[in-house]
Amino acid sequence: MNDLIVGIDLGTTNSEIAINQDGQVNVLPIHGNPIMPSCVGLDPAGKLIVGQAARNQLVASPDNTVLSIKRKMGEEIRVRLGEKEYSPEEISSFILRELKQEAERQLLQPIRKAVITVPAFFNERQRKATQAAGELAGLEVVRIINEPTAAALAYGAGAKEGETMLVYDLGGGTFDVSVVVVEQGVVEVKASHGDTHLGGDDFDQLLVDHAVLQFKRLHNVDLVQDLRALRRLKVVLERAKRTLSDEPYAAVREEYIDGQHHLELELERHDYEQMILPLLERTLTCLHQSLTDAHLSPKDVQKVMLVGGATRTPLVQGLLQERLQLDPRFEINPDLIVAMGAGMQGSVIAGQSRHSILVDITPHTYSTTAISFRHGEGDLYCVPIIHRNTPLPASKSEVVYTMYDDQPAAKVEVYQGEDELPQSNTPIGDFLVEGLSKAPEGNPIVVHFDLDLNGILKVTATEKVTGLAKSVTLDTKGQHHLNLEEARRNISSLVGETQPTAPGQAAAETAATPALAGADELLNTAKDLRKRGEALLEKNISPEDADEIRQLIHQSAAAISENNWTVLNERNETLSDLLFYLED
Ligand code: AMP
Repeated sequence: MNDLIVGIDLGTTNSEIAINQDGQVNVLPIHGNPIMPSCVGLDPAGKLIVGQAARNQLVASPDNTVLSIKRKMGEEIRVRLGEKEYSPEEISSFILRELKQEAERQLLQPIRKAVITVPAFFNERQRKATQAAGELAGLEVVRIINEPTAAALAYGAGAKEGETMLVYDLGGGTFDVSVVVVEQGVVEVKASHGDTHLGGDDFDQLLVDHAVLQFKRLHNVDLVQDLRALRRLKVVLERAKRTLSDEPYAAVREEYIDGQHHLELELERHDYEQMILPLLERTLTCLHQSLTDAHLSPKDVQKVMLVGGATRTPLVQGLLQERLQLDPRFEINPDLIVAMGAGMQGSVIAGQSRHSILVDITPHTYSTTAISFRHGEGDLYCVPIIHRNTPLPASKSEVVYTMYDDQPAAKVEVYQGEDELPQSNTPIGDFLVEGLSKAPEGNPIVVHFDLDLNGILKVTATEKVTGLAKSVTLDTKGQHHLNLEEARRNISSLVGETQPTAPGQAAAETAATPALAGADELLNTAKDLRKRGEALLEKNISPEDADEIRQLIHQSAAAISENNWTVLNERNETLSDLLFYLED
């Protein structure tokens, strides 16, 4: 049997572990979540805790908790944790060990080898420190690879000689952009630039400043002096910021924020975008600098790949499209892509010939229509709400406006296709929202699309001022079949590179996973069954029965990481039947 080689993204804030299971590279859930906080702590009893549990105690027990150790890698320092001091390598090894052990528990087999990613700007000392951390965790680090290289691998880099790619990585606290080139089958970082103090946290701060100003204007109270209020503001505004990635408005309400007044605020995506534009301009300056360093211009770039949670901001995608005239790729979860690339690299080194990534995306854009007066005459054009290549399920809204005063009704038309003009796209339904309030022209109507894995599109139109809403559910599958070829072509850029022969080659594929209703329920049942199964394994049962339980638990874990609810449902049923007979 081939050696198992896992891929690990050892991040500043979060870490992930990915592995090739039956030809598919998946990120394994750790403590129920694929993303594990890179946080290490000691609980009140002095026991080591890693991940979310450590993160949860950060505020209450800062002396017993260590965060962001990656920033210290390669430094000859000691970090206090409880009574003792540790090197950054030792702290990082706790994170790696937790990932390893959790993965072993799920896979029911030992893990001894790993590929670990590091930022492209890490120097030799920092790389060595990462390697040492791996070894302390009981892992042979078979390769250290650059994070942008891993991201590029996940998007299929390596198959096309001479391909030039940009990896734009905007996280919570840092930004970097790298030019990645394939030369003689090797995926290499040619240039990298960044700002270690620029990221989503700065966007949150701008929103906090805005809220503080509004609150002062309204209540004449300065929240800047109130640390508790500021902390609460940061939490709600970070949440609102995420909402603005999918919705045109976000309502914020915090009761008695200063002990006396409620904070009530409505944020508009358009205003928010104006706030963050100067920061995003800085990222574009870095981007141009990295291209200059690599002696390239934007037109030499064939692919732009997005990494990091903050790249979910639509303005990031819009600016890259506008400035580089390239559609940035965002099909792969930007939080998991680096681990997936590392997992692919591990699988190549292990000699596993099949390794692809399962991504559920929509191969089409779904739009509604609005009138534009851009060219003088009023023309009907499509307003995209869910863009093609968006991971599914997707839930997004845009705002359109009434055309004249006291307009009594609005017709919502839904189209599938990539063109700006409705007549070039496929109509998939329309409906009328009647009974709008008497309002001047420009009355906002929020159109919300919910598209599930089965191609069922729920469309809701809501008059913003009154909340008057109307919904319809449309089945887009007919259109999917009509455009299957287009979908195949769309996928082929990822799948086309399916026969990797050399290190650095990778492939990805898309597949529709059936979404059964009540995924949460299925997950809870699986968790429950697993606990019961594990309890039985401790008891005196036959080796055959024990084997069967282990296999079913393993298969359930695989189904969960693939979001394959149909298989999970089947495994749940089989395991439930088996336990029924074995339990007394
Ligand atoms: P990372 O360091 O890659 O985990 O990225 C974390 C940053 O991404 C934080 O600033 C988050 O607030 C931000 N983020 C996560 N999801 C979204 C979203 N949907 N829209 C905008 N920012 C997001």
